[in-house]
Amino acid sequence: MIEKVIPLADLRYAARMPHIPAQLQAPTGMLADTLSRPLHDLRISVTDRCNFRCSYCMPSEVFNKDYAFLPQSSLLSFEEITRLTKIFVAHGVEKIRLTGGEPLLRKHLEVLIGMLARLTTPSGKPLDITLTTNASLLAKKAQALKDAGLQRVTVSLDGLDDAVFRRMNDVDFPVADVLKGIEVAHKVGLAPIKVNMVVKRGTNDAEILPMARHFRNSGVVLRFIEYMDVGATNGWRMDEVLPSAQLLERLQAGFPLEAIDANYTGETAERWRYRDGGGEIGVISSVTKAFCGDCNRARLSTEGKLFLCLFASQGHDLRALLRDGSYSDEQISAAVAHIWQGRSDRYSELRAALPPDASVPGSDGARRVEMSYIGG
Ligand code: SAM
Ligand code: SF4
Ligand code: SF4
Repeated sequence: MIEKVIPLADLRYAARMPHIPAQLQAPTGMLADTLSRPLHDLRISVTDRCNFRCSYCMPSEVFNKDYAFLPQSSLLSFEEITRLTKIFVAHGVEKIRLTGGEPLLRKHLEVLIGMLARLTTPSGKPLDITLTTNASLLAKKAQALKDAGLQRVTVSLDGLDDAVFRRMNDVDFPVADVLKGIEVAHKVGLAPIKVNMVVKRGTNDAEILPMARHFRNSGVVLRFIEYMDVGATNGWRMDEVLPSAQLLERLQAGFPLEAIDANYTGETAERWRYRDGGGEIGVISSVTKAFCGDCNRARLSTEGKLFLCLFASQGHDLRALLRDGSYSDEQISAAVAHIWQGRSDRYSELRAALPPDASVPGSDGARRVEMSYIGG
């Protein structure tokens, strides 16, 4: 039998050329999509590379030595990222999350943070700048990141048992080094620190209680994320998802919890706190409880394509406008407004309304972009 090989790298390049409206309207800071969702968060992927091979994100069978990562020349430069961010901020973005791939692999990331930290919202407020990292390089870089203007950090850690964690990251990386990264981040004043744990039933669900116990009373907010069917390579199966409702039951058995209000509209995590004052945790029910209704997040891929949903298979090529050289900021701003105003994505909601094995109309599972490419 001849197997058909799908060249993943080629598919990543599929993107629409943005339309520049004939009438350029000045940004009002209040852009709404077709479902009245504002544009508030921008996630920027600064590299598609990573030194981990978490099976739910970059399985090593696919992301191996033959995998075609993006060449350096394809990546948005820091100047290009800053120019686009400024445009997004004028449209209402107040929160920036740098991600990837592993963002700390991008050389001189602190220079980019310094450039972004100098931007302000139309009302003069500083931007809320954060970073999601596997923390492998955090101990080394935390001080420089803080000095450059980074305020806080989210660290991914899927368990405290070394054997479980090494298996999940698939590069034999030890838990102790991640904990060291968290400790140094705390020391230099990156706060609050959040820890994300992706829960895969049968793989690391035995780590839920030890993780909760470890981070209780530490000031760190632990957030449990349902394993998602993002991308096209992780071999996702529903039976490996542990619904947050069940996770909360397990947690409550050890530590009584009570629900608390969201910090802001569109927050992805549901917040809970320990009744005995031991701090706060969050659950992100991306699979079992869709939160598309409040989704105010745009994602800028490593090579400058704008994605309107984590489950999209096509982006909008903003880099083409930047590199053409003939488009003004006003024109690019109008193109961004046009794209957001046409947004109707709500993949998780649509999927939740379908039987488990049905696919969402208009979503091409085999062509969905990878999380490491558009950023989590
Ligand atoms: N490398 C960095 C890290 O791991 O923190 C940043 C990029 S990573 C793609 C961002 C977040 O996405 C991480 O917290 C990771 O655990 C999460 N993630 C990746 N694949 C996922 C999946 N299939 N389901 C749920 N979360 C996932
Ligand atoms: Fe790398 Fe983060 Fe993906 Fe793990 S989740 S493979 S650390 S990008
Ligand atoms: Fe937002 Fe898409 Fe996730 Fe819905 S499925 S919450 S629209 S990223």
